[in-house]
Amino acid sequence: MSDTIAILNDTTRCTGCEKCVAACKEEYELGRDRPWRAQGAVSDLSSTRYTTIVRRPDEHYVRQQCRHCLEPACVSACLVGAMQKTPEGPVVYDADRCMGCRYCLAACPYGIPRYEWDQRVPYVTKCTMCIERVRRGDIPACVDACPEEATMFGTRAELLAEAHRRIDENPGKYQPRVFGEHEIGGTSVLYISDIPLDFLAWKPDLGTQPLPERTWAALHKVPPLMLGMGGLMTGIYWVVGRRMKLASEAAIELETAASDIQAPAAEAESGEGST
Ligand code: SF4
Ligand code: SF4
Ligand code: SF4
Repeated sequence: MSDTIAILNDTTRCTGCEKCVAACKEEYELGRDRPWRAQGAVSDLSSTRYTTIVRRPDEHYVRQQCRHCLEPACVSACLVGAMQKTPEGPVVYDADRCMGCRYCLAACPYGIPRYEWDQRVPYVTKCTMCIERVRRGDIPACVDACPEEATMFGTRAELLAEAHRRIDENPGKYQPRVFGEHEIGGTSVLYISDIPLDFLAWKPDLGTQPLPERTWAALHKVPPLMLGMGGLMTGIYWVVGRRMKLASEAAIELETAASDIQAPAAEAESGEGST
């Protein structure tokens, strides 16, 4: 199997300048952060912030983004294939397939995906590792913008080698592990750090077994859970129907607004022509 692409974040080099955040916002036209009541702070990950900087004591800065897990729980939790693992490694989202159930939000051990709660037709949002830029031969916008080389792009094998090299050549500087090398089967966003990074996950020790394996093993052992599937599917049809209705209402509103603008312009034009 060819090696997947990856990002290595070295927290010892990060100054918290947020140029990576700004570059991501510009690349995806995310606009200004909007406070939302479920958020602790506007600087949290959100539908307008696919990456952010978590500030820790003593001027430690830790970049947060989707880990692009090798065996992603969000993908296995999504019943309609809206979360997909690409052959290159990044985990991407297909809004056309999404039914709005938000199982991916609940499944992610790093609390990454966000929902557009304030939109009429909401979707899930998260980092894509700039897969389209990478396919064009470019590197992710955030990596490109970092002036400190605190975040690097390459293949997972190259970046793991670089991470271990930095740890070995700087005794005592780093925690003695590469975060993401083995956790829950491994991730494509890796970290080396002088402080523990367990706070980034939903519990300190995630183990090394991929979450999808655990999830499905548990489901097979608990058949009654499957009995709820009928009710679940009913809910899904309701959600899909509602989303389609909202989308078509939004389209009608746009059409009406457009014809409201065009009508006076046409009248003015014909008035001008008749004089
Ligand atoms: S970090 Fe969460 S959202 Fe990202 S691939 Fe892993 S499970 Fe999915
Ligand atoms: S890889 Fe791309 S989408 Fe992900 S945080 Fe960086 S700029 Fe944003
Ligand atoms: S641009 Fe680089 S140094 Fe600045 S906050 Fe982002 S990762 Fe840290």
